[in-house]
Amino acid sequence: MKFFELLNKACANEGLEFDEDKYNKLMQYKDLVIEWNEKINLTAITEEEEFIKKHFIDSIKVFRSSELKNSKKIIDIGTGAGFPGIPIKIINPDIEVVLLDSLNKRVNFLNEVINKLQLKGVTAIHGRAEDFAREKKYREAFDTAVSRAVANMAVLSELCIPYVKVNGHFIALKGPAVDEEIKEGLKAVTTLGGVVEKVIEVEVENTDLNHNLVVVKKVKETPKVYPRKAGTASKKPIK
Ligand code: SAM
Repeated sequence: MKFFELLNKACANEGLEFDEDKYNKLMQYKDLVIEWNEKINLTAITEEEEFIKKHFIDSIKVFRSSELKNSKKIIDIGTGAGFPGIPIKIINPDIEVVLLDSLNKRVNFLNEVINKLQLKGVTAIHGRAEDFAREKKYREAFDTAVSRAVANMAVLSELCIPYVKVNGHFIALKGPAVDEEIKEGLKAVTTLGGVVEKVIEVEVENTDLNHNLVVVKKVKETPKVYPRKAGTASKKPIK
């Protein structure tokens, strides 16, 4: 129970319940990441305490946004090894979670985690965000879309906002250059039907991580032409 107190405190700070079952699941998940990391590239962070802080606590901090707390169904775009989507699911098992990534090896890994931890109400899907957003089952079907470390705000908005219901939210985890990114991404946010509602600064104590949660509210439907064909958002961002 080496990291129990650290994680318990991180949850308590966000007004969240934590217990032994959640702790055990997080530890099992960490062990699986470290094990699979030998075969496929999942993370550069392997030192245990750093892993807990930079992957788990950073993911837990997304709950600082009441928009996530109030969500029933979310999607994590470009989830990689499952951040922030899997810690969110473990901490609040009532949230239905879809994890999306374009790398099949990572999706296979996520399915292994889902099976081993016996997580319910979570699915991992393989493909480009631009493609799934055209499917009826996924388009404008989520209360919230979250994403960490995938693309700049202009590109990411096109990958995420189409998934969000009108009146739902898109939460992007961003670094210290957030003001510049928002400025560059503003046209894309608006074009896709969003408005930047607020920026919440979250610091992960005793690390160099200084994240900002950019909370975008979806105020109108995304025009049918978006997202454009896979790859276009990054080649020709909406500016
Ligand atoms: N979100 C995770 C994290 O913070 O640890 C992973 C970040 S990793 C740097 C970026 C991930 O986004 C990769 O796993 C990549 O395969 C995925 N990705 C990039 N573009 C994508 C797209 N258009 N559709 C789906 N996944 C994408």
